Amino acid sequence: MAGIAPGKAEGQGGDALLRLVADNVPALIAYYEPKNLSCVFANKAYAESNGWTVDSIIGKTVREAIGEKAWLMIEPQVARVLKGERVDYVRPMNLPNGEQRVIEVHLIPHFDGQAQMLGAFVLITDITRHRLAERSVRESEERLRKFAEATREGIFFHKNGVLADVNEALLQICGYAREEMIGTKVLEFVPPEWHLTMIEFMRREREEPYEAEIVHKKGHKIAVEIAAKTVYVNGEAQRLGALRDITARKHAEARIHYLAHHDMLTGLPNRAYLTERLTTILALARRHGTLVAIMFIDLDNFKTVNDTLGHHVGDALLKEVAARIKVVLREADMVSRLGGDEFLVILADFATPEDAGKVADKLLQTISAPIVLECHELYANASIGISVFPRDGDNPEDLIRHADAAMYSAKDHGRGHSRFYTPGLSSEGAEMMAREARLREALQLGEFVLYYQPQRSVQDLRLVGIEALVRWRHPERGLIDPSEFIEFAETRGLIDEIGHYVLREACRQNKAWQQAGFDAMPISVNVSAVQFRRGDLVAAVTRVLDETGLQARYLELELTEGLLMDTEIVGAALAGLRALGVTITIDDFGTGYSSLSYLKRYPIDKLKIDRSFIGDLGTDVDDRAIAAAIINLAKTLNLTALAEGVERQEQLDFLRAHGCDEFQGYLAGNPVPAEEFAAFARP
Ligand code: C2E
Ligand code: MG
Ligand code: MG
Repeated sequence: MAGIAPGKAEGQGGDALLRLVADNVPALIAYYEPKNLSCVFANKAYAESNGWTVDSIIGKTVREAIGEKAWLMIEPQVARVLKGERVDYVRPMNLPNGEQRVIEVHLIPHFDGQAQMLGAFVLITDITRHRLAERSVRESEERLRKFAEATREGIFFHKNGVLADVNEALLQICGYAREEMIGTKVLEFVPPEWHLTMIEFMRREREEPYEAEIVHKKGHKIAVEIAAKTVYVNGEAQRLGALRDITARKHAEARIHYLAHHDMLTGLPNRAYLTERLTTILALARRHGTLVAIMFIDLDNFKTVNDTLGHHVGDALLKEVAARIKVVLREADMVSRLGGDEFLVILADFATPEDAGKVADKLLQTISAPIVLECHELYANASIGISVFPRDGDNPEDLIRHADAAMYSAKDHGRGHSRFYTPGLSSEGAEMMAREARLREALQLGEFVLYYQPQRSVQDLRLVGIEALVRWRHPERGLIDPSEFIEFAETRGLIDEIGHYVLREACRQNKAWQQAGFDAMPISVNVSAVQFRRGDLVAAVTRVLDETGLQARYLELELTEGLLMDTEIVGAALAGLRALGVTITIDDFGTGYSSLSYLKRYPIDKLKIDRSFIGDLGTDVDDRAIAAAIINLAKTLNLTALAEGVERQEQLDFLRAHGCDEFQGYLAGNPVPAEEFAAFARP
């Protein structure tokens, strides 16, 4: 029978067809009669899986057919069938080849019309594969859960927006207990402003990650990144989502954004941010037809402060200035630091350009009020250039450039002022660069020369000293006064080189005069505050004296009062110079803003009364009083008093009457080139 092909079965008897079917279904089939429990029918699979053939198994009892071990296992089930019960059970089965299978057994009693049991069908299916599949599903679910619990990502399932399952991490992130979350709507854990986004992602079954927020049980929002996808569980669509707390990343991003847009020192927006904002502000102004003013603010004396007091004081000054600017501005305005000592203000809330001018004046006033930093009293004067939208430009670049040009123009026309942009100014920036380049060239070409002015004794008009005054001998423009380039050189960092040239040349000339047999006397050299930088002035002076062979007592340095802010660097430099034996003079005394205490504190030898007090000595009561007071002060402190700018005899008479020691001015002699000075010096 085993060899019968399906085709041959046709036309054969019912037994043959039954046999054909029975041997080809994937099941084990047998039939036992109830009296002796002997086998009446078995298909091939049943017989062979018990170690028989279809023929040899016939007539065997169940016990014989399946073996002793299996019999013990099924005996109770057989008893139940014999009572007429249908029995289904699952049991392991050992195949003759030793293979282990799991089978599902159905024992079905067979009755005749009178409920008389005729036999029992045995139907066995091999469910080993199902079992394995089931187990693997269970294991994979287990693995998945373990994985879900191990990850720090919050994982959730929801069906139609109602949470079906969540992992431990999600509970941790949200602060809820599992039973509080499961069965609750997803949106209850989401702030209202994110509802639309989430619904959109759910509805469209979008799977790309997106950023949103959820609400912690305590009420605070948590930034999260969510990625969800639709999965089918038992044929039902569910959303499986993973969510990660990105608070730290958000903070880092915000910090990076802040860093990219702000100046670290002052905390003000930086140029990048300002340009960005300005674009928006201009767009609004264009729509509303309003004005916007751009103010370019530059501190006039910042470099000096930085150089003489050190960077920490410079930094503190910038912070203070930033704070002061903010105080003046309104909510709608904005200030940023462009770097260095440059600030840029956007004024958005004003009616006429004149109003902007008034704000600029207020800024100047506020900035210039004394600032006390680490016991130093500082003055931060500023110059402001203003450009107005739409009059002076319609884009950020032009407006800033024009405000910058106006600022340079303001500086040029005397510091501490504000100036509006006017067409034609814009070339000034380029002009500055050209000017600086030309000045450097002048240094290299040796176009700077010294003029010398005599200083005489008030008592007997005897020549007692010489002041060296620098001039620029310009090949086309002729002789240019220092007022035209010293301040410019200071702001452009050129004064060191010019100053060094002057110092060396003055010392060399004085030594040359001495060697030529003229009376030895001190030569005065004007020193810019900037030259006090890092205290290397003492070293420079030492070197120059060395190189020229001039004795220190024949060199006098003139410092302006402004420099004498109470600082360690200046103090140390002055002490160093005094130790060398160099004389120290305060130039333009009475015009600066320093306190008098430094006169006692610092090693100072001479006061030069500023020529503004000398000019009207004949007529102005105040000037007479001031000049007299300075002479007295000098006497009290044991300092030499020298009057500058003495042009007329009556001035000299006044000075003589009040006991002034020395004088300088056209009355004593104009500044002249070295060759001509010999006439004054000749005994
Ligand atoms: P200062 O040191 O107070 O120099 C005196 C100025 O008064 C000189 O102007 C001089 O020419 C001028 N003067 C002299 N006698 C009279 C007079 O009787 N009446 C009037 N009205 N003026 C008189 P100058 O040479 O143009 O120098 C101007 C300023 O430039 C100087 O003021 C000084 O502060 C600065 N300066 C000159 N040379 C140098 C230098 O080599 N280095 C530095 N850092 N500054 C210098
Ligand atoms: Mg001088
Ligand atoms: Mg002077």
